Amino acid sequence: MKLLLVEDEELLSKTVAKGLKILGYSVDCAFDGEEALYLYEVNEYDLMILDLNLPKVDGMEVLRRIRSRDDGLKVLILSARNTLEDKVSGLDEGSNDYLTKPFEFKELEARIRSLLRRNFTTGNTVLTCGYLKLDTKRRQVWCREEEVELTRKEFALLEYLFVHAGKMTGAEELIEHAWDSEADLFSNSFRFHIHSLRKKLDAAGAGGYIVTYRGKGYCLQCPEEGS
Ligand code: CA
Repeated sequence: MKLLLVEDEELLSKTVAKGLKILGYSVDCAFDGEEALYLYEVNEYDLMILDLNLPKVDGMEVLRRIRSRDDGLKVLILSARNTLEDKVSGLDEGSNDYLTKPFEFKELEARIRSLLRRNFTTGNTVLTCGYLKLDTKRRQVWCREEEVELTRKEFALLEYLFVHAGKMTGAEELIEHAWDSEADLFSNSFRFHIHSLRKKLDAAGAGGYIVTYRGKGYCLQCPEEGS
């Protein structure tokens, strides 16, 4: 899952980004409203964490501009503005959640998880596909109750496929959501990670779960339900 963190306090931005990356998220950072709108324009994100007091373009204006054209992006406001009015207007402008500073990282993490999950499960952190299970909270994968050890990249790929199980996902889309923007999209590394993910699933007894549509993309499905 790919997040855009919009926060002008560098130390806070660095700390939060680091914590989120450790959890396996891809994170891009914007340090003012203009940069936020630019990154939003050129990349695809699953969620935006948005500070309100920002240089150049105010956070509320950033939110307004995004909402005028896109309802799909999840936006979590993270702000020191803490009156009820601030919260109400943030939600009115279309943010999905509002967290006031100072905050506990654990709280932020829980809110992010809940927002990203809202699309596809009902409060459950474990996703299942045939013999495969993926826990979005503990970031673990099992096949027939045996844990499958994955790298962060492999997990990120599999998680995205899980969320869209049964649907074909283009390679470009997968890269967009599982990689940081600074990564070299055109290296072999994407194929390398998909290949090694497949190999590990194969070895664990879940061969055939990731279906390739040559030149188009990938799809996670249970082989039993397949053809
Ligand atoms: Ca600020």
